[in-house]
Amino acid sequence: MPARTGQQYLAGLRDQPREVWLGGERVRDVTAHPELQNGARAIASLYDMQLDPRYRDEMTYVSPTSGARVGLSFIIPRTRDDLEKRRVMMLNWARTTCGMMGRSPDFMNVTYAAWGGAVDYFAQGRPEFADNMRRYYEYIRENDVCLTHALINLQKSRTVSGVFNLEEGTALQVVRETDKGIVVRGARILATLGPLADEIAIYSPRMGRYAEPHSPFALSFAIPCGTPGLKFLCRDSFDLGRSHFDHPLGSRFEEMDCIVFFDDVLVPWERVFLLGDVDLLNRTAAATHSSAHSAHQGAAKNLAKCEFVLGVALLMTETLGNAHLPHVEERIGELMLTTQLTKACMRAAEADAKIDEWGVMCPDQCMVESPRNLFMTAYPRMIEILQLLGSSSFLLTPSEADFKGPLKADIEQYLATDNTKARDRVGLFRLAWDLAGSAFGSRQVLYERFFASDPLTRARALASIYPKKEAMDRVLEFLGRDDNSE
Ligand SMILES: Cc1cc2nc3c(=O)[nH]c(=O)nc-3n(C[C@H](O)[C@H](O)[C@H](O)COP(=O)(O)OP(=O)(O)OC[C@H]3O[C@@H](n4cnc5c(N)ncnc54)[C@H](O)[C@@H]3O)c2cc1C
Repeated sequence: MPARTGQQYLAGLRDQPREVWLGGERVRDVTAHPELQNGARAIASLYDMQLDPRYRDEMTYVSPTSGARVGLSFIIPRTRDDLEKRRVMMLNWARTTCGMMGRSPDFMNVTYAAWGGAVDYFAQGRPEFADNMRRYYEYIRENDVCLTHALINLQKSRTVSGVFNLEEGTALQVVRETDKGIVVRGARILATLGPLADEIAIYSPRMGRYAEPHSPFALSFAIPCGTPGLKFLCRDSFDLGRSHFDHPLGSRFEEMDCIVFFDDVLVPWERVFLLGDVDLLNRTAAATHSSAHSAHQGAAKNLAKCEFVLGVALLMTETLGNAHLPHVEERIGELMLTTQLTKACMRAAEADAKIDEWGVMCPDQCMVESPRNLFMTAYPRMIEILQLLGSSSFLLTPSEADFKGPLKADIEQYLATDNTKARDRVGLFRLAWDLAGSAFGSRQVLYERFFASDPLTRARALASIYPKKEAMDRVLEFLGRDDNSE
């Protein structure tokens, strides 16, 4: 099945029963559960966009194997033009969700596309792992499979060095190998989109403490979410069952985060991509450049998010009639700056992209890694600016029901501003609250701080690719020192 419609995606979720728990109860159908269904619909709308005649050429490309039109985020980019087309596609999706669904399917699609372009990397573990990866990449591309992922092991205590403290009984590990595959047991976090995905991918950004060559914790595989023994435990839903007026973002874009328990789960051999090799696992993201490709997806999401926050801020100041005040202008200027920097880095990453050793066009690594670092502090600051601009207006927000109740006339008289009717003001500030104050909005801030790992790890990732010597050489030249000479 090539690029899917929303209905096909929802039918796929229904056709594959999975063990999902929310609020102490087992969810029977994630597409009909009141706290999950709107998130499923939002993802379905992204799939529909692929086949909408207005967007089809921007959202899909012709599969090199089947000739069918498949989702463009699956493309293995070979030219800068491919990267730009992929960015247009990802921005279309990100703008549809106002940047609020960071784990839209393109996040994992670009990761597997990078691995599909670098299959020989996986052959270093076992020759058949390269074939497994090639087949799997083609399978998800040709069937438009939606993936979640869980990279982090739970830890019972922390090491001073900050490297992972992996323990038997907590971290996900191989417990035995059989003719059919490997059997894994343990827990992983944090599977965003877990209940709403077709398959789950397990790998790790790095292993940490278990540095011996054959660690049972070193794993990369992907299996259907309905595989026996897999259990998804959801956090509280931030879709409170309210109207779009009352809860504009939470009622649309709940992507859900889960702990995943693996209760002796069989992973078929053909779905294993890496096993036991700590060094290979640690180097995967950097060596295959999957990290740069996922950051390219993150850049599109960040831009959509910046544009949206900036738009809300501008409307807030217009509504409150304070746009001309100097300190308001300064704060709006800061939002504009972050937005423009985000856009500039994304475009520069494409302009400076190079063909890597796998023959894949890789976005410039510093130009995608830098804004990924920046956004961890820039997004919380953007939200702080919204709070500073809005003050008590965030709380002058009667509900849709109040507009129909006995206080309707009072609300309409007193909450109107010079240029905005009360209902429009309240609608805008309920949206702003969903960005800057509600549980939904708070999770967005936490997401931007941590979704791509903790800040120290990201700073180290940037330092590892930054051309440090160039900077030092310039200073040495200024000092008249030539430290390269004997
Ligand atoms: C909303 C959200 C969605 C996410 N979605 C996904 C997803 O879809 N898939 C996925 O795999 N992961 C996801 N993540 C998880 C993300 O990868 C992790 O949150 C991130 O790697 C940080 O790990 P942690 O949460 O265990 O934080 P911790 O490791 O507990 O870190 C918490 C703080 O303590 C500090 N710290 C930790 N250990 C030490 C130490 N030993 N010494 C000193 N300081 C230390 C850290 O720097 C950090 O500031 C998501 C996270 C969030 C918040």
